[in-house]
Amino acid sequence: MAGTPHHRPEGGYRNPWGGEAHPGVGRVLRWLLLRRLTGRRAPAPGPTAFPLRVPAFERPRAPGDVLTLTWVGHATFLVQIGGLNLLTDPMWSGRASPVPRLGLGPKRVVPPAIRVAELPPIDAVLVSHNHYDHLDAATARVLAARDPEARWLVPLGLGPLVRRFGARRVLELDWWEQTRLDDVAVACTPARHFSARWPGDRDRTLWCGWYVGAAARRMFFAGDTGYHPAFADIGDRFGPFHAALLPVGGYEPVRLMRPVHMSPEEAVRAYLELRQARPPLPGRPALLVPMHWGTFRLTDEPMDEPPARTRAAWRAAALDPEQLWVPAHGETRRV
Ligand code: ZN
Ligand code: ZN
Repeated sequence: MAGTPHHRPEGGYRNPWGGEAHPGVGRVLRWLLLRRLTGRRAPAPGPTAFPLRVPAFERPRAPGDVLTLTWVGHATFLVQIGGLNLLTDPMWSGRASPVPRLGLGPKRVVPPAIRVAELPPIDAVLVSHNHYDHLDAATARVLAARDPEARWLVPLGLGPLVRRFGARRVLELDWWEQTRLDDVAVACTPARHFSARWPGDRDRTLWCGWYVGAAARRMFFAGDTGYHPAFADIGDRFGPFHAALLPVGGYEPVRLMRPVHMSPEEAVRAYLELRQARPPLPGRPALLVPMHWGTFRLTDEPMDEPPARTRAAWRAAALDPEQLWVPAHGETRRV
């Protein structure tokens, strides 16, 4: 299908750039089993490793020319932009799992930095894909009941699931498709990843990132992604960004994770490619905000390694230290 090489002819989706395939279920299960048998996994962080900050977002909404970012944890941010309150990949539960009560699936190590009851009114929810650490059933049900007018923007195929969770105003988008939320433009962008919630539904729904742009502020949320060659194109179409939220965790073991999760070094490369066609204007922020780390014990790297490696890669690239914001859980930045 010309123009949509990420659509599989037989239905479902795929990464269109060639290269390594994402790991099969068998290889991932073998890794999990070996890890359990050998006890070879990164230590859990100490209780003081990830202190919670008190959020400082604006209630009920920020002025239209302001962007605030508050890190709830993992890929969940409260974003105030263009006078709206948005959530990315809302996940408030203690486990990323289809059956949390059975104790299966990655465990949350750092609690959500804002209670749902303390959130301001939510105008829209942006979902990157259907993995349990990004789209949690219990969280979605609570949010859909709390903010019934919120619009839910999801990649192709994910509408029925979020409707089942109670969301009423749902819009599915394909890569590069755009819509508007009042005065705010939103576009669905490519990502290199996969989807699955059950055996047998692999890649039946799409995965993506999101561009969000108001008159005065523009930001990019990359979702869950390996490195791919479309970052320069995303920056060209929608940049320059005041902030780019890029995943930096979930990279070990590299042989399994490289096709689906960026390393910190790859995230810095992606950041540079995002801004190559449209460099930031002088004096204007172009923040890299590392996410997808420090919250769930997902993979084999130590949980505090992703920000340290991101800082090192930043220094190695001789980038301005003012433009790297490594948030603490709960921390708010006004951009
Ligand atoms: Zn994922
Ligand atoms: Zn993830």
